[in-house]
Amino acid sequence: MNKKFSLIIHGGAGALDHIKREGKESEIMDSVYSILEGGRQILADGGTALDAVEYCAIRLEDDPLYNAGRGSVLNEYGEVEMDAAIMDGVTLDAGAVAGLTAIKNPIQLARQVLTKSEHVMLIGKGAREFAQLHGFPLMPNDYFFVESRVQQWREAQKLGGMMLDHENATSPKKLGTIGAVARDRQGNLAAATSTGGIVNKRWGRVGDSPVIGAGVFADNETCGVSATGYGEQFLRTVLCKMVSDFIYFQRLDARAAVSAGIDYLVQKVDGLGGIILIDKNGHCAARHSTSGMIYGLIEKEGETYCSFVQSPEYFAVG
Ligand code: ASP
Repeated sequence: MNKKFSLIIHGGAGALDHIKREGKESEIMDSVYSILEGGRQILADGGTALDAVEYCAIRLEDDPLYNAGRGSVLNEYGEVEMDAAIMDGVTLDAGAVAGLTAIKNPIQLARQVLTKSEHVMLIGKGAREFAQLHGFPLMPNDYFFVESRVQQWREAQKLGGMMLDHENATSPKKLGTIGAVARDRQGNLAAATSTGGIVNKRWGRVGDSPVIGAGVFADNETCGVSATGYGEQFLRTVLCKMVSDFIYFQRLDARAAVSAGIDYLVQKVDGLGGIILIDKNGHCAARHSTSGMIYGLIEKEGETYCSFVQSPEYFAVG
């Protein structure tokens, strides 16, 4: 069956006004556009949804603008510790890594967990050993560090708290967790999420991003979803699975499902964040309870659309 492919990616949610003020908007939109065009090529050439989301996540991880891979935020000890997950909507197979150091592209390792291990999630030292066994090189710490993250971390240390990448700090580049969802020409869905977590996180803290159902979910019968925001709130509401369940049980379309999901997040835990989604019919939608969110999409092989802060896909809460 030859269906039209769709692709949606995000670069985090939060207060983004400062990025506009600093004139960084076009740099970000160019990056989102170029990554979507690369994804378009893969899907147009008959690539799978899994290939497309992995490709987009790798490009987003490699770009120091975002809080994933290179450019990740720093934990309490001034180190980068990353989380990522990928899910196949055909089989519900999933791979995830958490508390990961030294691996250039956590999403690639998550895909390796999906295909080459009988497990779903590997953490810390073990995940690194698995990576080495499968030929992933270990990168030096310096590779991951960017100056703006070090400044942001110093501010958080001074204030003595944790924070979302986009919050408060005054450093110029505060972009977020990344994610991608695709539907390929076979009609198969996949989703991926990758992050450095939250600034100044402590005690081996792991957020929602690598947890299947919380920060990522894909099921061909419903939708693919990727989340960004306060991980603890998405964990407690199991938000991505909740959104899939809205579609499964209530037959909601993409827009109604993201609205129901964010309403639920806000009503239940006063949650801050956003989600991107493609439903089984290839419709794309995004919604956030934060004032801004970075994302872009290609719906059913149409034009590439990038959004910064508000957009037609933004539905105000309440
Ligand atoms: N959800 C991520 C976490 O809590 C952070 C983010 O999306 O910016 O680890």
